[in-house]
Amino acid sequence: MANKVMKNTITNALTVDVEDYFQVSAFANNIDRAEWENCESRVEANNRKLLELFDRFDYKATFFVLGWVAERYPHIVKAIHEKGHEVACHGYSHQLIYNQTPEEFAAETVKAKKILEDIIQGPVLGYRAASYSITQKSLWALDILAESGFTYDSSIFPVRHDRYGIPGAEEKPHHLTTPSGHSLVEFPISTKSYLGYRLPVGGGGYFRIYPYAFSRMALNSINKHQRQPFIFYLHPWEVDPDQPRIESSWLSRFRHYNNLDKCEARLTKLLTDFRFSTVQNVLSDLDLLQKPHGKIVAA
Ligand SMILES: [Zn+2]
Repeated sequence: MANKVMKNTITNALTVDVEDYFQVSAFANNIDRAEWENCESRVEANNRKLLELFDRFDYKATFFVLGWVAERYPHIVKAIHEKGHEVACHGYSHQLIYNQTPEEFAAETVKAKKILEDIIQGPVLGYRAASYSITQKSLWALDILAESGFTYDSSIFPVRHDRYGIPGAEEKPHHLTTPSGHSLVEFPISTKSYLGYRLPVGGGGYFRIYPYAFSRMALNSINKHQRQPFIFYLHPWEVDPDQPRIESSWLSRFRHYNNLDKCEARLTKLLTDFRFSTVQNVLSDLDLLQKPHGKIVAA
């Protein structure tokens, strides 16, 4: 196969933000949290699709699960854990951190972590904020994460965007010191610089917008030229082209629905072209975290 990218020897982090299609920030103005209970839930079936796909490649992934989902569907968390994947935390209510007070954020983060740890009967080390909402305005959240017992965060998107991003932030996985002096490991969402402009290339809507060949080239360049692992993220609703449509602004609908029907096939190609494992495994390969023990093994 002449045009196939040779599998790089670098192992990348494969991550899923486990939430339902009606919980995303793009629709937060259209669907009130109180209405979530009444929406048709599709997260379990969609997450199962991803688990089966990862099984086919024998790859382990990190699943950042929303506390609200874990509380109602603990068997989703159990299924992830029993298959040897890493369970991590996506907060509780999918509120943007910079719209919360530190007290509100601390309360719901501790609550979400405890829900997950009670289900898996083990520690949850990793955190990812709703819509990457750790920005210059909410760096205090890093203190709360360290104080709540998280060892790593993957919420900082080193780009400029209307909802998230810290332009100019470090792009590689690294140790950071929080504003109060705690230590935390950060795995920023992957970006690739072209002509001095940083392009988000780590997954989600960008993976659906760009032609696959472009994503592959950009991600391959992070492995090959920068000799760094990238972190890839996706949501269960992104492999569900038949999900109910929600009335919203043109931009929100574009971001959410664009190329949903192409996503699963592209993801299959990505899993064919690159090596993947959990965030814990990738960070420990970089000596940023201790080697995980238990069921998680390097792919
Ligand atoms: Zn999310």
